[in-house]
Amino acid sequence: MSEKKRLVINSGNLFDSITGTIKENQTIVIEGNQIVWVSDSGSFEKEKNDTIIESAGKTVFPGMVECHIHLSMNGEINMERAQLRTKRDMYHFYSLVNAQKQLASGFTTIRDAGSYDGIMPSLRRILDYGVFAGPRIVNSDKGVWQWGNQESVYPEALLAWDREHDQVIAGVDNVKHAIRDLKYRGATYVKTATTGGVLHGMESKVSFSLWTDEELIAIREEAHRNDMHVAAHAHGKAGIDKAVLAGFDTVEHGSFMDEESADLMIKHGTYLIPTQMAAMGLISPALLKTMPPEVQKKTIEVDSAMKTNHKMAHEKGVKIAIGTDAGTPGNYHGNSGTEIALMVKDVGMSPVQALQAATIEGAKAIWMDEKIGSIEKGKLADIIISDNNPLEDISVLEKWKNFSHIIKDGKVMVKNGILTYFSPVEKPPL
Ligand SMILES: [Zn+2]
Repeated sequence: MSEKKRLVINSGNLFDSITGTIKENQTIVIEGNQIVWVSDSGSFEKEKNDTIIESAGKTVFPGMVECHIHLSMNGEINMERAQLRTKRDMYHFYSLVNAQKQLASGFTTIRDAGSYDGIMPSLRRILDYGVFAGPRIVNSDKGVWQWGNQESVYPEALLAWDREHDQVIAGVDNVKHAIRDLKYRGATYVKTATTGGVLHGMESKVSFSLWTDEELIAIREEAHRNDMHVAAHAHGKAGIDKAVLAGFDTVEHGSFMDEESADLMIKHGTYLIPTQMAAMGLISPALLKTMPPEVQKKTIEVDSAMKTNHKMAHEKGVKIAIGTDAGTPGNYHGNSGTEIALMVKDVGMSPVQALQAATIEGAKAIWMDEKIGSIEKGKLADIIISDNNPLEDISVLEKWKNFSHIIKDGKVMVKNGILTYFSPVEKPPL
């Protein structure tokens, strides 16, 4: 008998994210941070140092993947006031608590889509060390951005800050340098935008990219050469199609995609990250009334276009993974289960497809499917044990309390919505 300490999830009903089926009475054995054995409970042999979580009647599924959030943003309705009243270093602490909300809601891996520079690479490292409870982080640091898509309306003092924070470049050589620099700073993928945004006023062109085709191809080539995938924020069709044709891996938002865009995405294998929660947050009456009338109109148009076009994309067969844009106004961390429910309600996925989008498809979209996204021997032990079966009622995923155990990296970190992990690390493995 081995003297190793093992964590055993005994006799649960296991969701196989690869085949989309439930296998009853399965036992999972974890050693360190890895799954080392999965099979019928009948053939499990207990060892003396085993810690056993009895899971009869419970549903066991892979830790979920959130492909689009902003950890340093809190979802404040009044963004400008929040920015003016927050000291720079406070964002580190907000990012940690937001990461923990993601973990407690079942997301053991998150992809940050842009936070203040330097915060995410540090948070990623400290969570990898096991110093705090938190998800694994894939991050773009501050990303690379097009400049001048819309006129800035910042006062001069903030314009200087904005220029310093945002990585703004032009030309193929500068693009390559910027991506190498992001890698050096600790980014693990590349985020950019090929259209303007929703909130930037009517001058923001949601269907126009300042990047030339040569620059877009250079972004993709240099990122892939550095083992980083590439994501494009894109609302309008022109920007979506340009990103897909340049070989980008994921399109974020995809609001005004049409059938031609969908066909291109299928041909190129591009993932869509719908972020419907972002539009839902913005169209709440409390938030809408804070916007100028023309921006209100644009926001409502984006919300309704997303619903129609994402459904069309799913029906045609575009690959979809889960992302909410949490952190944007009215869109709070810890609610990503609702985005999964929206995939069933508005996009037309079956509950099985929606849970696959949140697990194995998310892992593929962010190039991590060799390590996470399914419960298999050799994969990292990121596992959720749920009192209720989300395939019978998808809203199970919206309530943290349903998850009796959330295991990340082989450690039980959350029980029924409450963080239970306090680091035993006396010395980080520097
Ligand atoms: Zn975003």
